[in-house]
Amino acid sequence: MFAHVVVDVVHTNVAKPFTYSIPEGISLLAGTRVRVPLARRTVEGIVVAIGDRCDVHPDRLRPIAAVLDPYPAVLPNLLALAEELASEAHCPLSETLRLMIPAAMRQSRIQIKQEAMAELAAGVDAQAAADAQGRSLKRATLLRLLADAKPHPVAELGALVTSPQDALKKLEQAGLVRLSMRDVFRLPYEDLSSPSTAAPTLTPEQKAALSIMSPALMQGRGSFLLHGVTGSGKTEVYLAMVQAVLAQGKAAIILVPEIALTPQMVGWFRQRFGPHTAVLHSRLTDGQRLDEWRRIRLGHASVVIGARSAVFAPVERLGLIVVDEEHEQTYLSDKHPRYDARRVAQSRCAREGATLLLSSATPSILSFAMANRGDYTLVEMPTRVNGRPLPHVTLVDMRLELSAGNRSIFSLLLQQKLKASFDSGQQVMLFLNRRGYNTFVSCRNCGYVVKCEQCDVSMTLHKVEGEEAEQLRCHFCGAVQKPPDVCPQCGSRHIRYFGSGTQKVEEELLKLFPNVKAIRMDIDTTHQRDAHYRLLSAFREGKAQALIGTQMITKGLDFPNVTLVGVIAADLTLNLPDYRSQERTFQLVTQMAGRAGRAAETGEVVVQTYQPEHPCILAAAAQDYRAFFTQEFQRRRTGLYPPFTMIARLLVESPQAEPAQAMSARLLDTIEAYLQAHPAQKRRVLMLRADAAPVVKIRGKYRYHVLLKLFEHPDAQPVLKLLGELSQVSDAHCQIYTEVNPATLI
Ligand code: ADP
Ligand code: ZN
Ligand code: ZN
Repeated sequence: MFAHVVVDVVHTNVAKPFTYSIPEGISLLAGTRVRVPLARRTVEGIVVAIGDRCDVHPDRLRPIAAVLDPYPAVLPNLLALAEELASEAHCPLSETLRLMIPAAMRQSRIQIKQEAMAELAAGVDAQAAADAQGRSLKRATLLRLLADAKPHPVAELGALVTSPQDALKKLEQAGLVRLSMRDVFRLPYEDLSSPSTAAPTLTPEQKAALSIMSPALMQGRGSFLLHGVTGSGKTEVYLAMVQAVLAQGKAAIILVPEIALTPQMVGWFRQRFGPHTAVLHSRLTDGQRLDEWRRIRLGHASVVIGARSAVFAPVERLGLIVVDEEHEQTYLSDKHPRYDARRVAQSRCAREGATLLLSSATPSILSFAMANRGDYTLVEMPTRVNGRPLPHVTLVDMRLELSAGNRSIFSLLLQQKLKASFDSGQQVMLFLNRRGYNTFVSCRNCGYVVKCEQCDVSMTLHKVEGEEAEQLRCHFCGAVQKPPDVCPQCGSRHIRYFGSGTQKVEEELLKLFPNVKAIRMDIDTTHQRDAHYRLLSAFREGKAQALIGTQMITKGLDFPNVTLVGVIAADLTLNLPDYRSQERTFQLVTQMAGRAGRAAETGEVVVQTYQPEHPCILAAAAQDYRAFFTQEFQRRRTGLYPPFTMIARLLVESPQAEPAQAMSARLLDTIEAYLQAHPAQKRRVLMLRADAAPVVKIRGKYRYHVLLKLFEHPDAQPVLKLLGELSQVSDAHCQIYTEVNPATLI
């Protein structure tokens, strides 16, 4: 038998599997990580197939050098998934295989942690044996400590008996004690003994939703879109479904959009399912991630909660994947190989006989359209748990505030409501969407804007916590510099700061309400690993009356004491040059409004806007998803936007501008020539052009692209295939990537 191995080296010359012989006495399964010789070195790789055919001349055939794990790291279903993703993304299999194992596992960057254990050998009477030790007090004490016949970590014994190792060795030689090594799992949370809580009585809507989905869940099939308003109790529905899946001896994956959300979700799940819950996200240490992954792979944990990449969790008997807040952009990966976690989830469920549940209060236009078309079964929960009303939303026209002489970023109405909330001891949340509205530094004399040297974007002004100093930061690469006192271009002293960020909101709030404590949550305050958790817990415990934040605070958070939500500027995202800006704005405002009044009190929401008559803002204020969907779907149809069309591009990156631009021009020529020769394909293409990418330079790489707009139609596949082939063109100066409907077009 021979092993076909994909080596973990990204280069088009080694993209296809190599064949190796399997040394005598080794049984090997597909998916196993191995070390193999390649030219004059050895590299890591993954066995993708075992077969009896060999295409290498026997003289040149070399054996596998080492088997790295005692089990296949990549399960057969995930191997098939990696192959499917590679063919869809037109990238080498080695790249998609990397998605399937923790990065720290490769190159053995993190070791498995083990500890020495000691226990009484079978059938030994500890008391008698201790008495028989005579002069050695140490051995006698150890035997008494081990009398409970349970395994004890040697390190723990060492706290009671100094240096127990030699004594234990002697006892082992005498056949009285058994020594062994045990895997230690580095857990990303402290206790595993949080009390399990019983499920509440489900509401009629929750029951109805479950009764629609349960038959499919039992049979391991079905794709559902759960549209439940904010506070309708969607989490309880997931918990009930996971319970049913576990009862069948299967496992479940719950995807959540962002780590900010995870602490609360994890808490709920761990209360219900205890140590069966594993967590996978990017904020774990390498050791924790590896160990959580191993707990899942070894079947110790069968409930997985995690961000996007947890869709690849190595569960063997998959019963359910839930995608919570399915409309979130974070489900589209921004790194290569690009994938859409929702589509990967669907493919996994279909392949592995599991149920898919997408869920949101504001489903993406695409998913809702697919539900209307019958691809998903739509399940609705239109009211809040126990009949609590949706919050009351007031729109404030900020143009009138300005003309009435109010220059504050808070309208008079919001100021009044803030005061009322603080006076009555309730909490408030203030939301500012900073994207596209950053505090940048520009010269009033000549218009010069301070930009990052590595990236073609303006630098953003930040106050350094606890200091007077200010610094400029690049939001793409993190570069930091001091803000200039005079304009570097014209020497003018009139170099000023524009815009307003969360720091500004905090400052103004504290000016108005000096006695109020505020917590700010944005990229500045959440650098540290557990910052989200700490800040959110502090707010939950009432240590502050106001939570100020960006997108981070819009998602699924449930704070019973929040009765007022202020949206500082609803239209900030409305004017971005992206066909999805209305969808994004509707989602943000509706989700943010949904944070108010989730417990006994009715919630109040103040939405400040410069376009109170905009249909998107009106629908969001009414929290009317269907009205928004209907108008937006119509707009997409007439404007020829996705899902009626698709956007595809070839992105060219290079350390120099010239080769990137030349390459994009050449790619354009090739595509044009192809379309000339294929008139049927040409009719599918609405737009084709080569251009500098909107952000022309990121992290020192220049970026050019060829952009296509195509009718969404199966016939368009040949064009996509061509793009895939073109991105395989290897050139020493440029890297080329294919992207279809990317999350952002920066
Ligand atoms: P959603 O995700 O739909 O916005 P959540 O799942 O956060 O809503 O639930 C909102 C609140 O209602 C939570 O505090 C939750 O504990 C509570 N809740 C959910 N279901 C029930 C129920 N059947 N009985 C009582 N309280 C419930
Ligand atoms: Zn200037
Ligand atoms: Zn930068």
